[in-house]
Amino acid sequence: MTTRHYDVVVLGTGPAGEGAAMNAAKAGKRVAVVEASPKVGGSCTHLGTIPSKALRHAVKEIIAFNTNPMFRDIGEPRWFSFPKVLNRANKVIDKQVMGRTEYYARNRIDIFFGRGRFKDANTIEVNTYEQGPELLVADKVVIATGSRPYRPENIDFDHPRIYCSDTILSLNHTPRSLIIYGAGVIGSEYASIFCGLGVRVELINPGKKLLSFLDDEITDALSYHLRDSGVLIRHNETYDSVETTERGVVMHMTSGKKLRADALLFCNGRSGNTKDLGLEAIGLDANARGQLAVNDTYQTQVEHVYAAGDVIGWPSLASAAYDQGRAVAANMFGIEGGHFISEVPTGIYTIPEISSVGKTEAELTSEKVPYEVGRAFFKNTARAQITDEAVGMLKILFHRESLEILGIHCFGDQASEIVHIGQAIMKQPGEQNTLKYFLNTTFNYPTMAEAYRVAALNGFNRVF
Ligand SMILES: Cc1cc2nc3c(=O)[nH]c(=O)nc-3n(C[C@H](O)[C@H](O)[C@H](O)COP(=O)(O)OP(=O)(O)OC[C@H]3O[C@@H](n4cnc5c(N)ncnc54)[C@H](O)[C@@H]3O)c2cc1C
Repeated sequence: MTTRHYDVVVLGTGPAGEGAAMNAAKAGKRVAVVEASPKVGGSCTHLGTIPSKALRHAVKEIIAFNTNPMFRDIGEPRWFSFPKVLNRANKVIDKQVMGRTEYYARNRIDIFFGRGRFKDANTIEVNTYEQGPELLVADKVVIATGSRPYRPENIDFDHPRIYCSDTILSLNHTPRSLIIYGAGVIGSEYASIFCGLGVRVELINPGKKLLSFLDDEITDALSYHLRDSGVLIRHNETYDSVETTERGVVMHMTSGKKLRADALLFCNGRSGNTKDLGLEAIGLDANARGQLAVNDTYQTQVEHVYAAGDVIGWPSLASAAYDQGRAVAANMFGIEGGHFISEVPTGIYTIPEISSVGKTEAELTSEKVPYEVGRAFFKNTARAQITDEAVGMLKILFHRESLEILGIHCFGDQASEIVHIGQAIMKQPGEQNTLKYFLNTTFNYPTMAEAYRVAALNGFNRVF
């Protein structure tokens, strides 16, 4: 068995692991990464963010082709199978893996493919797929092992008609009907994707409204548009048991209902990947959801062991995971930029897309902040009329006295891009983070940025 020494060993090559490894390598540290899968990129690249976003993009193009009258001159509406659309997603995954593999090589970071576990507080044992067992002795360790779908024991996930958000990517046909249990971000995004492929979707929400952390108006809009495109949403429903037959699945609800479909996609929660890490060898405990507690420098209770990404829980986003990873390396080695990642925008790739940053109306109201609202509807902007993307709205929440921008909430085409204009202004120092920027700045025309000017004028008119 070979023993090698490193300044830092990173477990996992998702965004959190990559951010930590790259930042440490740039600071001249000797870095190794350990990856349990045969390719770098994490669940983010192979099972989560990238495949779902590539699928959604392809589905959106299919919807555009099938609903835009101009395309009828070149042919009838067409339906594409799930495997065909998935094929497109796989090409994006390959490109991502190639690029990310290069980053590690360019930064002289050693990669060990195999599952890593603690042998003792400074030693990671890896049974590598190619070179056999290796011992990596590390001054510091980063746990960036991500998360996996929660799979309750009373559901048979080996049955060919039952899927979680990982296994759905192996679906080799297009079901005619699908129950999606769990109406969080992942469930809602897959509802849009399958509905766009012509599948009859029932979205089951154990809670009382969709994505309740969002601004109420945005949640209402999402519910309306999902229903409008054919998704049947059922709130306040929990399952009791799942019966499988040769022809499909029957979900027995505690309310007494029986829901039947060709297949079930269960996506109700995720658990941190800490089970086989050998945490007992270093005296570290995960909580019931497999997540690790960290302080505001991302340090666990063991001084030289840090953790970042989904394995520490909130916000469980690739966007934040990458920055958390970078912050870990900065904190470990005294590099600039070691802050705690607390201000994270929300990007939800349903159809329509949703994005927000800052406070919601409900939060500001409960905090008794005197705010005002400025709104712009996409259907009234020239750019949205040209691109035929009329569904959507931009809403700016601002302090009615100082005009400070307090929240940006957007739904509609490119919402997750559009929100960054507002985010950039919110981050400006002093009095530059106010509505005045949008009132006094000339934007390109026609653009979706115009919505900021329209919303700002709309809100400003309410104040004076
Ligand atoms: C369907 C879906 C859609 C999503 N969409 C978005 C989105 O649009 N935007 C967004 O920001 N986020 C999105 N997310 C969330 C995002 O994918 C995660 O937040 C992100 O992947 C977390 O990154 P990570 O580095 O913590 O972990 P991961 O990306 O999960 O990577 C962890 C890696 O660690 C490896 N590993 C595990 N155990 C070991 C071990 N013992 N030894 C070595 N390696 C190990 C795993 O194999 C994996 O490669 C989505 C998630 C899902 C499931």
